[in-house]
Amino acid sequence: MMGLMQDVPLTVDRILDHAANWHGNREIVSRDAEGLVTRSTYAAIHGDAKRVSNALAAEGIALGDRVATMGWNSARHLSAWYGAAGMGAVLHTLNPRLFLEQIAYIANHAGDRLLLADPATADLVEELLPQVPSIEKVIFFCDAASMPKTSLPAIAFDDWIAGQPAEYRWGGFDENAACGLCYTSGTTGNPKGVLYSHRSNYIHALMTLQRDALGLSARDIVLLVVPMYHANAWGVVYSAPAVGAKLVLPGQRMDGESIYNLIEEERVTYSAAVPTVWQMLLQYMQENGKRFTTLDRVTIGGSACPESIIRTFRDDYGVDVIQGWGMTETSPLGTVSVPNAAVAAKSDAEQMAYKLKQGRLLCGLEMKLVDDSGNRLPHDGKTPGRLMIRGPTIAGAYYGGEGGDVLDAEGFFDTGDVSTIDGEGYMQITDRAKDVVKSGGEWISSIEIENIAMGHDAVANAAVVGVLHPKWDERPILLCQLKPGASATAGDLTRYLDGKIAKWWMPDDVLLVDDIPLGPTGKIDKKAIRAGLEGYELPFEVSR
Ligand code: ADP
Repeated sequence: MMGLMQDVPLTVDRILDHAANWHGNREIVSRDAEGLVTRSTYAAIHGDAKRVSNALAAEGIALGDRVATMGWNSARHLSAWYGAAGMGAVLHTLNPRLFLEQIAYIANHAGDRLLLADPATADLVEELLPQVPSIEKVIFFCDAASMPKTSLPAIAFDDWIAGQPAEYRWGGFDENAACGLCYTSGTTGNPKGVLYSHRSNYIHALMTLQRDALGLSARDIVLLVVPMYHANAWGVVYSAPAVGAKLVLPGQRMDGESIYNLIEEERVTYSAAVPTVWQMLLQYMQENGKRFTTLDRVTIGGSACPESIIRTFRDDYGVDVIQGWGMTETSPLGTVSVPNAAVAAKSDAEQMAYKLKQGRLLCGLEMKLVDDSGNRLPHDGKTPGRLMIRGPTIAGAYYGGEGGDVLDAEGFFDTGDVSTIDGEGYMQITDRAKDVVKSGGEWISSIEIENIAMGHDAVANAAVVGVLHPKWDERPILLCQLKPGASATAGDLTRYLDGKIAKWWMPDDVLLVDDIPLGPTGKIDKKAIRAGLEGYELPFEVSR
């Protein structure tokens, strides 16, 4: 017997419809390409998004066609996002921080037909276009006066939508229709496309809105620092309008001062970003003696969150840090580290150990740990295994069939992360499978050593990589970038680690470096570090 409830397709256009109908006057604040901070509302963005749909239809864009964007977080980008999705096109977010060849590969692979880009990327676009024949036209996110000089077939976004009506019949297609496309940065092999459906994004929005997840509310003022091109914007492009939160879109400026000023001027209560952004912000605040007036909590994810960041936010500024884990393939949120009842009953010191874990699973998902043969491993908080995940917001395949069959016999997706799960259900990443240091057949967690090293006052950033070793296969070495003006020797850092990690985990060498390379989404680029270490030899034979 079937249920008798209405079968309403879960398409994301309904989310912006809802925001416009029921939170219509709620503000969207945006730092635009012109550098100005402009003010709009959900109702106005809804109208612009419909104009975008009409403009896309006028270009001959139809259901399933890929429309690329390459831009920072702005109101125009938001209108384009919903305008494309609402009419059944697939919004493909390109990361302007990738190399030209990678962007060209991705855009060709996706078969993008239009490109909507920030004017600041005009030089890149100029080089890109001859390499991507499928792109018919470029629309720059700006007004006519700010159009970059270009020989390309290009138009200003404002002109492109100007004559279009603010009426368009959205939806009317299957909820499983493709909605968005986002490529993983492909630290191994070519980038692969994750093709979100309307349904997966809609469900992900509801999942992240749980109080124990991102828990946004109508009273929140959300600064979306996570770029819209990074991992589906962590779903905030859907969850914020779903509850009518005020949305602040910071444009290109990600330095500590710009972020701080927006937080204060717009009275931001919540934000989400990778750890490196927060480090820049905290450094700016410490150097300039600044305080937060309204900021209440931040979600940190994308890479492991050092304890020093959690402590500084909490103890010095009264801001709660919530760690989240996920990946492009998981929409992206999978686990969130909030206390369950048992953990909440523990002392502050004991709770910190849980805050440093990646957290507990969102309802709707399943996860398991397996060994290399696919056998399940215990959830004892000690045994590391490959983390596998299953659910309606998890990729079932990559666009174009890249990578073949990516699910195991039970339909679980292999995250490529190595982790433990403890008795309270907290998952903790010990490494990405390809970054793990294998010494004498045992795994050393590079993340754990990095987190501890980051606790040293002089250390701005730390990275651990494995170096080939004749006896132990690999041994860890630690690279540290010191804070400006700070001093510490390799010996100081070794002594600092001593006693905080197992003896056989102690790095065989500590290198003080000027710079730790970051990848295009602000994560430590271990591939670049390894390349830079070519020819490096361990300083001495250590017997462990
Ligand atoms: P890319 O693979 O392109 O870097 P993703 O954002 O999809 O982009 O990366 C996902 C990976 O980031 C995860 O598989 C995991 O290794 C890492 N990651 C995400 N969140 C965390 C976290 N809170 N702690 C540790 N690692 C994390």
